[in-house]
Amino acid sequence: MASEVSENVDIAIVGGGLVGSSLACALERAGLSVVLIEAAETPEIPPGFDQRKLALAQRSIDALARLGVLPLLQAPPTAIRRIHVSRTGDFGRTLLDAAEFGHPAFGAVVLAQDLGLALAKRVSRLQQTRRICPARVSACHFVAEGARLTLATAEGKKHLSARLVVAADGTDSCIRKAAGIATHTHDYGQTLFVSSLMADQISDGTAYERFSGQGPVALLPMADGAYGAICAVSTADASGIAKLEDAAYADYFQSRFGWRVGKIRETGKRTIYPLKRVLAERLHAPHAVLMGNAAQTIHPIGAQGFNLGLRDALGLALILVAEGLSAATAEAYAESRQEDRSRTLAFSDGLARMTANPGMPAHLLRSMALGALGAAPALAAGLVSGAMGYRGTGSFEEVL
Ligand SMILES: Cc1cc2nc3c(=O)[nH]c(=O)nc-3n(C[C@H](O)[C@H](O)[C@H](O)COP(=O)(O)OP(=O)(O)OC[C@H]3O[C@@H](n4cnc5c(N)ncnc54)[C@H](O)[C@@H]3O)c2cc1C
Repeated sequence: MASEVSENVDIAIVGGGLVGSSLACALERAGLSVVLIEAAETPEIPPGFDQRKLALAQRSIDALARLGVLPLLQAPPTAIRRIHVSRTGDFGRTLLDAAEFGHPAFGAVVLAQDLGLALAKRVSRLQQTRRICPARVSACHFVAEGARLTLATAEGKKHLSARLVVAADGTDSCIRKAAGIATHTHDYGQTLFVSSLMADQISDGTAYERFSGQGPVALLPMADGAYGAICAVSTADASGIAKLEDAAYADYFQSRFGWRVGKIRETGKRTIYPLKRVLAERLHAPHAVLMGNAAQTIHPIGAQGFNLGLRDALGLALILVAEGLSAATAEAYAESRQEDRSRTLAFSDGLARMTANPGMPAHLLRSMALGALGAAPALAAGLVSGAMGYRGTGSFEEVL
């Protein structure tokens, strides 16, 4: 029999994925009542906590350490000490070494599932936050003083009022729709295959990115000497490649990646992701803010999605800790995220489009970009600081 329970909170975070959970941790010092609502049927494992390997910028690693999440990982993050960039048909290649820029590492690789479980564990220990899971927000109505949410739970419908709703509910965000915020979608015409693989040369802290007209291929170093592999293929070819046996897929990957790590010996189970960019037109409406994939779902090639989403979460926490919650919070948040967001989107989208375009101008442009990176230390340093997450203004010290 359906039961109806009413509850009033300051903040309702809708979506307990990587970004919503990070926000819950960052809000610990804000002194506000917070609920984190997650729809996943298996409470511990929302859909984003999967086998994808995340390259996290050093700034994200530092933030997760200070939020108390890093010590809860089962496997320590694998440092990225070098980044090797090349393009099919270009003779040039670029090798960025963190040591040359005075850093031990550019960032590190973690398994999304491991990070998700560490976040869930951290959230379960928070004093100010209650995680409601499984519970799906089935309706959201905005009123003068906040929002009213209807939750579908195993015990029936629940109702909840919040002064601010955070849409951290992913690409198809229902909160974004309820707030009347439109999106712009671009289909890259590519599908991404993600797997682990073993090669002759064991991973040594180098991340590889290789671009071709067919799309990017990348290898991320893993702690056990294996690699996290991603390979973009045109959507027209995707079903054929999905059907390949593992050995045939290893050969296909080798043909795309080349021999920089020797012979590719073994590949693990492949997971497949369509590649679409979905951008919200705005990051706020009265009593609502968007963050993470609900705000911007971007091409994974630049490894920016979670890094940017985490900075969204820290940015909101910073405003709430410094200024408290008011009717002006949503707009202040959107304004504070504008510069970082637009620069990160431009970088990520530029990379994806440039590498997806087999035409001569893009080819030349890429060669020039690589050449410039090798030749001009100032430009390289700028790219490096962006890759490490130090893009945009502001420090998040106060909430960490
Ligand atoms: C293959 C791949 C590789 C990637 N690599 C990197 C990388 O190297 N570095 C990087 O920074 N980023 C990377 N990303 C991007 C990164 O994974 C995402 O940016 C990040 O996971 C987004 O998290 P999120 O919490 O915003 O969204 P999601 O993971 O989509 O979480 C949204 C959550 O909301 C819940 N939800 C949805 N609707 C409701 C509802 N109505 N009620 C309650 N709950 C709801 C869902 O169950 C889900 O758990 C990669 C992405 C892919 C696909």
